[in-house]
Amino acid sequence: MPHQPLHVAGVEVTPLCDAVGPMGEAIRRPLAEMFPGADLPEEPWILHFHCYLLRDHAGRLTLVDTGIGGTDSPASSWAPVPGSLAGELAAAGVAPADVGTVILTHLHSDHASGAVADGRPVFENARYVLQDAELEAAGGAMLHQVIDVIKGQLQVVDGDAEVAPGVRVHLTPGHTPGHQIVRLGDLAMTGDLVLHPAQLADPAVRYVYDDDQERAAATRAEVLAGLRAERALLATAHFEEPFVRL
Ligand SMILES: [Zn+2]
Ligand SMILES: [Zn+2]
Repeated sequence: MPHQPLHVAGVEVTPLCDAVGPMGEAIRRPLAEMFPGADLPEEPWILHFHCYLLRDHAGRLTLVDTGIGGTDSPASSWAPVPGSLAGELAAAGVAPADVGTVILTHLHSDHASGAVADGRPVFENARYVLQDAELEAAGGAMLHQVIDVIKGQLQVVDGDAEVAPGVRVHLTPGHTPGHQIVRLGDLAMTGDLVLHPAQLADPAVRYVYDDDQERAAATRAEVLAGLRAERALLATAHFEEPFVRL
């Protein structure tokens, strides 16, 4: 079931819980190894996989991330597929064709795979917003099974951009080359800028699957400091509780 919605800047924000579970055995490691130096237990990491639905006063719908996808998705080797995004959207009263904007924070398979199903775009009427640096770095299954399918609907941005009324994206590289976060009023939907609450306590705590751990840590420290100064509300991808106030 979706987590409880909030209202931010006149927009209803609904966290959609696409999946909950540990990573598959191929890449599973204890928390202590996933986030070295954070003093976490030697237990498996149970992740939530959250997408966010924004519905503004005019009924315009924006979706932030698309989850792990179906049984044949590029995430199927490690994530608890199939994701339940379609059911979560239906529970929120939304049909995929109603979504006007899809923002992909980055092209990891647990964030972008649900953009397609059966070789077709799931959100047939949407623009798919992606950073240029992320598109440039795309390869493998995410390029062939996802980007090639949605390329006619891509809106490629470079850096900061307003992509729907009141909704802005900001380039935050490190986790991936073109990772972006999404802002709406005092809300920041942070994708994989932070993956675990331990990184809020100490942004220097690294994550083993960041593409560039040093750059990711520097970006995380800088962006979180700015968000903390404005006492922003975070909407995270993988925390158990979707929202956390800094
Ligand atoms: Zn959840
Ligand atoms: Zn990621």
